[in-house]
Amino acid sequence: MDYPFFHVSHYINGQFIDRGPRFDIYYPATNYVIGSAPEAGAEEVDAAVQAAVRAFGEWSRRPSAERRVLLKRFAQLIRDHEAELAAIETWDVGRPIAENKAGYIARIAANIEFFADFAVTHGSEAYPMDNGYINYVLRQPVGVAALITPWNIPMLQATWKMGPALAFGNTVVLKPAELTPIGTWRLAQLAHAAGIPPGVINVIHGFGPDSAGALLTKHPDVKLISFTGETTTGTIIMAAAAPTLKRVSFELGGKGANIIFADVDLERAVSISLRSSFFNQGEFCLAGPRILVQRPVYEAFLSHFRQAAAQLKIGNPFDPDVRVGALISREHFTRVSNYIDLAGTDGASVILGGAPPVLPEPFAQGNFLQPTIIIDVKPDDRVCQEEIFGPVVTVAPFDEEEEAVAIANGVSYGLSAVVQTRDVGRAVRLGSALEAGTIWVNDFFVRDLRVPFGGMKQSGIGREGGHYSLEFYTEVKTICLSNQ
Ligand code: NAD
Repeated sequence: MDYPFFHVSHYINGQFIDRGPRFDIYYPATNYVIGSAPEAGAEEVDAAVQAAVRAFGEWSRRPSAERRVLLKRFAQLIRDHEAELAAIETWDVGRPIAENKAGYIARIAANIEFFADFAVTHGSEAYPMDNGYINYVLRQPVGVAALITPWNIPMLQATWKMGPALAFGNTVVLKPAELTPIGTWRLAQLAHAAGIPPGVINVIHGFGPDSAGALLTKHPDVKLISFTGETTTGTIIMAAAAPTLKRVSFELGGKGANIIFADVDLERAVSISLRSSFFNQGEFCLAGPRILVQRPVYEAFLSHFRQAAAQLKIGNPFDPDVRVGALISREHFTRVSNYIDLAGTDGASVILGGAPPVLPEPFAQGNFLQPTIIIDVKPDDRVCQEEIFGPVVTVAPFDEEEEAVAIANGVSYGLSAVVQTRDVGRAVRLGSALEAGTIWVNDFFVRDLRVPFGGMKQSGIGREGGHYSLEFYTEVKTICLSNQ
């Protein structure tokens, strides 16, 4: 197998800089070292933030239409490099190339394009008063935004945050997850080639606690933090942001329910459930790993779903037929496997998977885990309560709608849910009753960028998307204009 080697660097003030101790990057499918990245310390973090502070004046004053030209050029370069970026995301994450080719890179470009247009086409409010005065609302960029992303969908997250931050006139310091720094570094190269001015985008690498992440969240010149990652990390970042009252937006963990009613077309329900269970080998905050099936179709669904999941090809992520890739690291593989062991001790039964597949070298060295289905669970079991973040789902029967809602809402998370039914009234009732920021009815992972995205409960704070991003990434002022 031919491995590339990615010599990743920081991107600070328009320059690619190699400073700080280097750490290895592993290909999840074989655990082979495919690159290295430098760890930013206090000096590099400060240099990146100061570059963003200096660039802010000019970038924030630039007309949004001019920012749009540069951002669109950046997005076009992403589109032009689709095949390369799809491959990079697979090297970084271990996700099947087929998933990266199914619109993933186009969506990364769209994250930039959408907000570049949105910033130009959205105005402000004005309120003429009875006395002839006019009140109007002015939205202005806030300053330096710290963008901190997780390892599961790195380029999607990077552009989802960069797009609005930059389009609305802020400058950014982005820290990708230490496990997947390659794609974001490559995006910085494309932004550079697009002519985005030095300091507007800065990318630094490193770890979270006592490293680049923590240093960034404490930096006094950072005004905003958009963070996606684990709920516990969110609580730490919130505390770090408190002394300087930084504005925060958090997209955190999830434990979505996928509720299937007896009136569905079973084949379609199985197909939706395969995606909501095993997309990105289940390392997906929006996944629906708690499958609840109405009793009359429970056995039939389980048998079809089990059969279909067993047929998903697992292995070499660059094989176009592969549908399940490798987990991100050995450590994460162990964590996910421990949940499967735990299910057994809680009295549940594993009816599919539960172990690594038998694969040829070099993939036998990778972090593969078979799609795993667990039944005979109780709603309070840890496997039903905690985010496992792997190709592991539970399937349980229910009788009444209210019972399904109660089970679905009975977790600390509230990011997303899937409802499958042909009954419109029921879909409306569940849309209202479920505690989740996004609810899909009869599909999964389709979303217009204008709608709010984020989580309830322990799944986050705030919303991004459309004008919700505008609100987060801008400071708002009221101007009261006299007619005298
Ligand atoms: P993580 O919280 O461990 O790390 C995320 C990022 O935060 C990384 O860049 C990491 O270096 C950084 N970080 C860690 N500790 C930090 C600290 N003390 N200060 C500053 N930065 C710190 O999460 P992860 O393991 O990379 O990602 C998986 C998690 O992300 C899952 O819980 C998943 O549900 C969540 N996620 C949520 C969404 C969403 O939209 N809600 C999307 C994707 C992933």
